[in-house]
Amino acid sequence: MFSVKLNGKVALVTGAGRGIGKAIAQGLADCGARVAVNDIDPKTAGLTASLLPGAAKSYSADVSDAAAVETMIDRIMDDFERLDILINNAGIEPHASILEMTDEQWRMTLDVNLSAAFYTSRAAGRIMRERGEGVIVNIASIAGHNIPLRNRSSYVASKAGLIGFTRECAREFAAYGIRVNAVCPGVIETEMTQNLRQNPEQMAKWLADIPQGRLGQPDDVVGLVLFLCSDASRYLTGQAINVDGGKVML
Ligand code: NAP
Repeated sequence: MFSVKLNGKVALVTGAGRGIGKAIAQGLADCGARVAVNDIDPKTAGLTASLLPGAAKSYSADVSDAAAVETMIDRIMDDFERLDILINNAGIEPHASILEMTDEQWRMTLDVNLSAAFYTSRAAGRIMRERGEGVIVNIASIAGHNIPLRNRSSYVASKAGLIGFTRECAREFAAYGIRVNAVCPGVIETEMTQNLRQNPEQMAKWLADIPQGRLGQPDDVVGLVLFLCSDASRYLTGQAINVDGGKVML
């Protein structure tokens, strides 16, 4: 696995109870960072934290709740006294056609996938500004670009919005030494993509469009995130980078 030096850094990873977030938390901890593991589910957050080397702690909070985010960041500052890296990873992907989607499904997707990144970036940005440095990585999706994804309009809108927010946040936060980038995974083998993976017809279509000929594993996303968290990417901000086996080429 690709490795960078993050000793002394404190990182918050949201939605890290399983899947891509869990792999990112592991990657950051392996590189020496102390990791604040967030998930809405206290059990999975605690389990991830218990598996990490170094001083990891778990924080159960719904990141779509602005007040809960403020409280969580205060607790992280009490526990670790600094926050250097924020990974906005928590996400949901409801499936419904536009004609069938409920207001609640639409709102929840935008709240978890987009508004949460605003709440955490605002709170973490204030702390990072004090030190004059910091890194924010938003886990968006190739769905935020123009690719066909049926029955996922709220997800596509939230991820396109997250890429837009990433750019604006990068422009505003550059003055404070904070870099902000988005990572756009293709289809990764996690619980989120279980339905797609169980549909042989859809799977065949997806695989036919991936030059590398396979779906991604959570670990395939980690190397890029670590690079973006490290000084090796010090002149890189405001970008949305695909990690998708070559499916989308911009
Ligand atoms: P996942 O396996 O479903 O994991 C998502 C995690 O986020 C779960 O542990 C979930 O907790 C947690 N979560 C959900 N809502 C939350 C909230 N309001 N507050 C805090 N935690 C919350 O998904 P994944 O595949 O690892 O996806 C991670 C990120 O990558 C998402 O943003 C997703 O959109 C993005 N992504 C995934 C793929 C893919 O193919 N898998 C592709 C592109 C982008 P619970 O289980 O308790 O709900």
